Amino acid sequence: MKRIFFCFLVAALVSGIIACATPGRLSFIPGTYRGTALGYGAGLTVEVSVDSGRILEVRVVEHTETIDLPLVALAFERIPQAIVSGQTLAVDRVAGATFTSFAITQAATDALMQSGVNMTALQQQRRARGAARRANVNITTDVVVIGAGGAGLSAAMSARQNGARVIVLEKMPMAGGNTVLVGESFNSVNPELQSQHPMNPAHHAAIQALINAPPYSAFETELQETVRGQLADHVAQNRPGLFDSVEWHMLQTYVGGDRVGKPEFIRIMAEEVVNTRHWMTENGMQWSTDPNIHIRIFTVAGGLWPRANRPAMPLGTGFIDMGVRYIQRHSDQITLKLDTRATELIVQGGRVTGVRATGPNTNYTITATRGVILATGGFGANREMRERYNKHWPSLLHAHTTNHPGAVGDGIVMAERVGANLIDMEWIQLLHAGDPRTGTLTGVLSADPAEHLMVNNNGYRFVDENARRDDMVSALLQQPDSMMWMVVDSRVFPDPHNTRTVFGATVMELIEADRAYSAATIEELAVMMGVPPENLRRSVDEFNAGVAAGVDRFGRRAWRDRIDQPPFYASLRVPTIHHTMGGVQIDTQTRVINTQGQVIPGLFAAGEVAGGLHGANRLGGNALADIHVFGRIAGASAAGNR
Ligand code: ADP
Repeated sequence: MKRIFFCFLVAALVSGIIACATPGRLSFIPGTYRGTALGYGAGLTVEVSVDSGRILEVRVVEHTETIDLPLVALAFERIPQAIVSGQTLAVDRVAGATFTSFAITQAATDALMQSGVNMTALQQQRRARGAARRANVNITTDVVVIGAGGAGLSAAMSARQNGARVIVLEKMPMAGGNTVLVGESFNSVNPELQSQHPMNPAHHAAIQALINAPPYSAFETELQETVRGQLADHVAQNRPGLFDSVEWHMLQTYVGGDRVGKPEFIRIMAEEVVNTRHWMTENGMQWSTDPNIHIRIFTVAGGLWPRANRPAMPLGTGFIDMGVRYIQRHSDQITLKLDTRATELIVQGGRVTGVRATGPNTNYTITATRGVILATGGFGANREMRERYNKHWPSLLHAHTTNHPGAVGDGIVMAERVGANLIDMEWIQLLHAGDPRTGTLTGVLSADPAEHLMVNNNGYRFVDENARRDDMVSALLQQPDSMMWMVVDSRVFPDPHNTRTVFGATVMELIEADRAYSAATIEELAVMMGVPPENLRRSVDEFNAGVAAGVDRFGRRAWRDRIDQPPFYASLRVPTIHHTMGGVQIDTQTRVINTQGQVIPGLFAAGEVAGGLHGANRLGGNALADIHVFGRIAGASAAGNR
């Protein structure tokens, strides 16, 4: 089940792309040639088959690229296809996977140089294609959605269900944005699953800490009182399993965001997310049916409570699959335009009436009779914006990011140009568990902090592994080289060849790619990690003592099991930029607010592009809740805005 999405792409890679192109004036010595190039991982090898007049097939036969990243997988599909169909080496890179695209093209070049073909002629095909004229196209629809991540697709579905014709613009070659890369964690109270999840003293302690904290506002007092009463009922009535409630979700979100998030948005997210989850299910979303309850409802790192609902498909692919399939089923009313970048909002008489966009060979002017929805995501991949707004971290100029390359704040810039107010822009979220080479989360050994140990480069523990994300990153930044190791044992990978991380890899694949180490003893593992064995031994012993005691010196209270079942595994992790909490100011109907505090008619925003919900720190698992709840509201608001 885990890899269905990628299998399609990998199948294209393995079977290769068979020629159906018209022969040009090229001349080859027929045969199959091999070429190599340096990829993002290590070497990459391509085989190219030719007959006397054309390129028949291009196949990547060996590589160590991160195929579990969708855009990399897309490069494996598109670049060979483009070389064959265009009979050229001058193919466009896949945005978001430029390095891999370049490596495949280079290896194909290397192969074709052995075929006796005139390489200049292969490049000349480019000029003929490049000469194509750009068309100017005017379109009128009811609602334009900019961005096909989770917020945009939900907005499109909801706008259509509220009677609108919709055009979705997506600048990248595929739908997905950051949403497709998320770690399978959709926060929503779910009594059916949570009643089967055990509740232990650590859970009680976490609730007591928040309901007895000095309240900061009337909102917090109200939530504390409600949760106190609900918990008393839960205990008095001997209800099975884990306590949870909409108000407890709200209280954790509010306090977890340092009370910066706006109560009205927190309330809407927590109240609406349960209905929205059902709405998504009705519209094709599939959730995990794993018999292990800890898989289906879990605490994602920085999520602080077991309320992360896990989808059936890997990463965020299930959310995107739901939206794209919905659009396919309703293609008479919703059009998705890929590779089409919105560049400007059109304003007439103080109202946003449309969008200008550039697509393949086409300039669009699109009139939106009811509204334009910004669902363009955040700016985590925009160095300049990060540097401009960051106030709370050391310089982030050279930091890695988990974000897809399109997360550069286009929507924020477009909205600002038409007078939108921006809020909470200085709050930028980092994660502690990025890949040291790419910053992505792929290669992480465990997404559930209840089951892993973290040590620094000296083998010492340094933080509660279940803490808030900002607290873990702050602690990590104090460690030597700001690096850490995540350590687990064989309980996390009962079958090292088949048990997969949430990012789709087996631990054996990670070890083969030098992204993880494995050893039969803690001491041997320490040697491989380059940390003093006695220090790692002490940290593991301390961890295991914490499991027995229930709490440790860092205040950690959530434990799954001891770490004592060989083989042991470790992978190196670094801080990485993950989410931008700030953005365009909206009201509770997702209408964009200008710098004078007034609604900008015709303009709506939802998802990471909007600020105000998460405050100073977003809880893990709340992004998927946010984007679907507010995306759905935005679709309805815009459709009803006649
Ligand atoms: P969210 O979680 O808020 O839905 P995502 O990052 O998942 O955010 O999705 C945002 C999408 O918007 C991405 O797919 C991104 O490529 C797209 N996008 C960003 N800017 C533009 C733009 N100017 N035109 C079209 N699409 C855009």
